[in-house]
Amino acid sequence: MAEEKSFKYVIVGGGVAAGYAAREFSKQGLKPGELAIISREPVPPYERPALSKGYINLENKASLPGFYVCAGSGGEKQFPQWYKDNGIELLLDTEIVKADLASKTLVSGTGQVFKYQTLVAATGSSVTRLSDFGVEGADAKNIFYLRELLDADELVTAMNVKANGKAVVVGGGYIGLELSSALKVNNMEVTMVYPEPWCMPRLFTAGIASFYEGFYANKGINIVKGTVAAGFNTNSDGEVTEVILKDGRTLEADIVIVGVGARPIISLFKGQVDEDKGGLKTDAFFRTSVPDVYAVGDIATFPMKLYNEMRRVEHVDHARKSAEQAVKAIKAAEEGNSIPEYDYLPYFYSRAFNLSWQFYGDNVGETVLFGDNDPTSAKPKFGSFWIKDGKLIGAFLEGGNPDENKAIAKAAREQPVVESVEVLAKDGLSFVSNM
Ligand code: FAD
Repeated sequence: MAEEKSFKYVIVGGGVAAGYAAREFSKQGLKPGELAIISREPVPPYERPALSKGYINLENKASLPGFYVCAGSGGEKQFPQWYKDNGIELLLDTEIVKADLASKTLVSGTGQVFKYQTLVAATGSSVTRLSDFGVEGADAKNIFYLRELLDADELVTAMNVKANGKAVVVGGGYIGLELSSALKVNNMEVTMVYPEPWCMPRLFTAGIASFYEGFYANKGINIVKGTVAAGFNTNSDGEVTEVILKDGRTLEADIVIVGVGARPIISLFKGQVDEDKGGLKTDAFFRTSVPDVYAVGDIATFPMKLYNEMRRVEHVDHARKSAEQAVKAIKAAEEGNSIPEYDYLPYFYSRAFNLSWQFYGDNVGETVLFGDNDPTSAKPKFGSFWIKDGKLIGAFLEGGNPDENKAIAKAAREQPVVESVEVLAKDGLSFVSNM
């Protein structure tokens, strides 16, 4: 039987939150051998958003170690040697299959037993699959999903094998938009399919979406809306050849990439930790209902102080910040100290082609579109504000410079009163830049 290993702190999961938690532990002071990161991935924590951007751009490919955590926030890249130098045990290719929180024990797929005093759960999300909806033929070859490095490697191989071929992207969220752009840049013929009336409806207004849909169409991307993939035809090798749409049409495809959402990975903790809104319920220090067990990143449902509501956030900025908050709280508690509550301003961004947008705050209430959202403009710059109860509470900006992005973040945090929606629409960015 494998030897049992004991650590003061264990982080389960080796993604964004794990990497930033490790950095915070080392900043706060860590003795050699106190901390272990247990990850089923074969590489140290990296900035996951790079997978759908630089990593799959065949001509100008970002590669590891270029985007090891904490490169994405301008920090030091944490190479395997960094973990060694900091006395952190990095257990890769190791999947935890059982967590017994009462006895503070974790068990890996190969039967290895790990004991901890404090656990940080950072297992992130897994993609939603078409087979989850019972779509027929969804197990055909050359149908891809993108969550981890190995998924991206498989996709890169397929794009090389099917060079200049036809790609169908299922899903109109930010993953679908980023992947479509990458496929087009890689010289594939791209069709996007999604059921909603416009792309990224969870965030984009019709006005925002019309810019991106127009821009994508001008790049030669075919967009099919109002229907879904209902099945697939294959050749004798089992490779996908066609996507069958629910409305009866078919689309030729050499490869299919699906981006239809993700679900938090919380099965290890089921029945042991209180849940809320699909995640593990935490307080403002990311403590779960079980003593000495913290949950961070995508899996945590935490009090969003700004909106006085429990929320779960699947964005990289929160993964970083929640991890840092949890580690600060762990260390402060050991010293008998306390730290301020987590006070998070939602922040989300995406990049595709030469476009780049940022969003801060909350996207509820009345909306106001401002700026130049003509998809044929040489330098489009436009945005949207969300207004609720007479206050500006959310702001989106495409093409902003760092100062402008800072200004929309400040406005979303400070929530200025909006006297007139018409004036706000006319003032646009200058409304927040002058704050
Ligand atoms: P993850 O980074 O997913 O890490 C979880 C880790 O836990 C993984 O390594 C996983 O293998 C491991 N794990 C899970 N279960 C086990 C187990 N039982 N045993 C061992 N290890 C386990 N957000 C943005 O704000 N902007 C973007 O542009 C953006 N782009 C993205 C692009 C892609 C392709 C993806 C997939 C996500 C993107 N995100 C983006 C979302 C962002 O990356 C996530 O919110 C963030 O990675 C969450 O961090 P996490 O540490 O909670 O989870």
